[in-house]
Amino acid sequence: MLHSKTQADEKLTHISKAPPQMAGLQLKKPELLPAQFNVAWGPHSVSLTCPFCHHYTITTVRSSPKVRTHLLALLLFAIGCICCFWIPYTKKSYMSRKHYCSHCDACLGVYNNN
Ligand SMILES: [Zn+2]
Repeated sequence: MLHSKTQADEKLTHISKAPPQMAGLQLKKPELLPAQFNVAWGPHSVSLTCPFCHHYTITTVRSSPKVRTHLLALLLFAIGCICCFWIPYTKKSYMSRKHYCSHCDACLGVYNNN
């Protein structure tokens, strides 16, 4: 019985090891845009051909806070506005809008409303 348990353990360790050629393989999202990719980004979705996956797509727009949004919230918190320091996060003018490919989810551009 002990012998069969050892064989099972050997099979488990053999299965859990990745093949040597797959060990360093990782899929990464592309982060740099090609130099010729020049689009006037706006607050709304744009239809275009993605430079990474080459599919014709409509971008997905996601809002994220800017650095100045965090700084303003920190300032409000520091001067004692503990109940209202989160208000900058609700203002659209304090948020940047990032356009993502709806097919490969690569970040294609950023719109900053200044
Ligand atoms: Zn894409």
